[in-house]
Amino acid sequence: MTAQLLDGKTLARTIQTEIAAEVAEFVARKGTKPCLATVLVGADPASEVYIRNKRQACERVGMESRHTSLPAETTQSELLGFVAKLNADPGVHGILVQLPLPKQIDESRVLLAVAPAKDVDCFHPENVGLLVQGRPRFLPCTPHGVQQLLVRNAVDIAGKHVVIVGRSDIVGKPLANMLVQKAAGADATVTVCHSRTRDLAAVTRAADILVAAIGKPRFITPDMVRPGAVVVDVGINRTESGLCGDVDFDAVREVASYITPVPGGVGPLTITMLLKNTLIACQEQVGV
Ligand code: NDP
Repeated sequence: MTAQLLDGKTLARTIQTEIAAEVAEFVARKGTKPCLATVLVGADPASEVYIRNKRQACERVGMESRHTSLPAETTQSELLGFVAKLNADPGVHGILVQLPLPKQIDESRVLLAVAPAKDVDCFHPENVGLLVQGRPRFLPCTPHGVQQLLVRNAVDIAGKHVVIVGRSDIVGKPLANMLVQKAAGADATVTVCHSRTRDLAAVTRAADILVAAIGKPRFITPDMVRPGAVVVDVGINRTESGLCGDVDFDAVREVASYITPVPGGVGPLTITMLLKNTLIACQEQVGV
């Protein structure tokens, strides 16, 4: 069997067209353009690319973006002061502080400082709590992208065994929280694995839908995948031979029923869901 591709690039374009229409309608009615403020501390080249892509995406859907680059030596209190200014600025609806931050800054302290109503990454404990309780303000961007990729390709999630490898606060844990909800596009039985999981391959082979969010190039091999399973690769790894995911794509493709490519899978949807959250934030702040 050669798996069908779950094409994130095309789907991202489709959803961005939908968002652009919603933005245009909102701007026409309310006279306010949703605005995302991005903040980068230091000059990490990968982060610069991520920020550029996010800003270009804002422009594509008719939103405003405001970027600030702060020097690598910025102190925690300077950054907290800057975030406080953005929190208080009525012209800014969403705030994105690009991670990772330099080592003198405590990331969790900064993420806690972003006003929950402007927390379009959905990292603030208030928003994570709402998500866990099944009444989200925002859906976290990458997990939401994974869910959309499945739902819009008619991959049924309800009742399926979803195995997620990785338990980070950005991908694994929030995705598990979303897919276990009693809700449309969810209702899964979810298992979360990590580096202490015993006999990982036995667990991943039990998956109807296997999600890899590990950060290790080509870690998931065909022997870890049940024939016919759906495989979603969140990983983005820079190797000497270029970008690759956490799944050994060429080999696993022969076993799975559906598989995401890297690049062109989950990545474009992550940015798209950030746009969606910025629109939601603006609607909440301005009124619908
Ligand atoms: P983290 O490093 O925060 O988490 C990695 C997880 O993988 C941890 O839970 C870790 O376990 C687990 N892990 C590591 N080694 C093993 C192993 N040998 N067996 C089982 N589990 C293991 O990574 P992120 O969640 O932030 O990111 C994961 C990947 O996704 C990265 O490649 C990242 O670049 C990519 N990414 C892609 C995005 C996109 O838009 N497509 C967005 C965000 C991330 P433990 O907790 O025990 O250490």
